Amino acid sequence: MSSNLPILVVGGGFGGLTAALALARDGQQVRVLEGAPSFGAIGYGIQFGPNVFHVFDRIGLRHEVLAASDAPSALLMFDALNGTEVTRIRTGASLRDRFKYPYIIVHRVDLHNVLLEACRRDPLVTLEADAMVNGFVDHGDRVTVKTEDGRSFDGTLLIGADGIRSRTRAQLLNDGEPLPNGYMGFRTIVPIEQVPAGVQTDIVALWAGPGFHIVHYPLRHGTLFNIVAVFRRTANSERGDSAAYRAELEHVYRNAHPTVKSLIAMLDLKRRQAIGDRDPVRHWHKGRVVLLGDAAHPTLQSLAQGACMAIEDGLCLADCIAAGNGDHEAAFGRFEKLRSVRTARVTLESRYIWDVYHAEGINREVYFQMMGERGEADTFRCLAWLYDGFASTK
Ligand SMILES: Cc1cc2nc3c(=O)[nH]c(=O)nc-3n(C[C@H](O)[C@H](O)[C@H](O)COP(=O)(O)OP(=O)(O)OC[C@H]3O[C@@H](n4cnc5c(N)ncnc54)[C@H](O)[C@@H]3O)c2cc1C
Repeated sequence: MSSNLPILVVGGGFGGLTAALALARDGQQVRVLEGAPSFGAIGYGIQFGPNVFHVFDRIGLRHEVLAASDAPSALLMFDALNGTEVTRIRTGASLRDRFKYPYIIVHRVDLHNVLLEACRRDPLVTLEADAMVNGFVDHGDRVTVKTEDGRSFDGTLLIGADGIRSRTRAQLLNDGEPLPNGYMGFRTIVPIEQVPAGVQTDIVALWAGPGFHIVHYPLRHGTLFNIVAVFRRTANSERGDSAAYRAELEHVYRNAHPTVKSLIAMLDLKRRQAIGDRDPVRHWHKGRVVLLGDAAHPTLQSLAQGACMAIEDGLCLADCIAAGNGDHEAAFGRFEKLRSVRTARVTLESRYIWDVYHAEGINREVYFQMMGERGEADTFRCLAWLYDGFASTK
């Protein structure tokens, strides 16, 4: 009975749409249920390592992604207190030669649109917006999901790609909320003309300070400028309004380099989010239901790899389902086996780098000295497990 039904994907983010495209390429009918009134992404920047191009190549979107994105000349880490350079990773020809693909920065909306348009072109993909899923029933031979407005949809399998606050995960694993790490993030985009003099606008910059950091880079071929600022919360910001956050940020960043302060002054403090992740787990499936992306393994953003992992998951899961030939237990078990250690390493290395960025006192000096000693060959060797791409079944 279930074989005539589509595969249901809950969540039309990067992970859900990639899974839908990859499944459709294998001849599967897919229905994507998105809770928001329309399919779309939050309007900020995102960075992608070269590893993600192994997926874009396979689903035929490499050229469209490249046209929508830019390649920075380098990733630079600065000491946010005195403005000195701690380390740099060149992201030009040498990185492309070593890892075959570029490192890119792109507006989330533009990347999401590339995936969305490809879904719209594919007759095997049905997109349902305004379909906030409440829960599912696994009948053994099929799965039914219910939406908040009372509709129900049947599918042969259910993929929960519904992000860090996944309801699918809550029902499937019942393992509580993500773990907040005590930090708060603010994101802002401004026209590039508004960037203060003295700020380098053609690179990805990370300014690391004790208990805070700021990242910035250009978007849309140098017309926009993306800023993310993060700080460790204290009781003073509990009030939660913009004035309280402004006061808190000014206090936390009081010893920062003048360039950092000039960037902080540009932030839109209404757009904020608590930062968190989850401890890695090995299993993300039961019966006919499986998780991917942030629903399965949310990570801190310090390696800039959460969306990359969601996209890799989407392709890998589709490959496993195709290779399983109707045996979903085998397919989901293989998917977990192929993905759990890689995604857990992203989570754990991201936590380590988070600590490096925000360290204080002598720890900070040690970490920065170690970073500064790394040459390009060392850096590429450390990143090879990640940027060389992932194992799949094809
Ligand atoms: C400040 C910051 C910076 C980051 N920078 C980077 C970066 O540079 N590079 C990188 O790779 N990653 C980055 N990330 C991580 C990245 O944003 C996430 O890992 C990625 O978006 C996860 O994709 P996803 O498809 O799993 O989930 P999401 O993008 O969260 O998509 C989930 C979708 O499901 C929908 N949904 C939720 N609940 C339901 C429901 N019940 N029913 C139906 N639909 C539902 C949502 O509306 C959404 O569309 C960053 C994260 C943060 C916070």
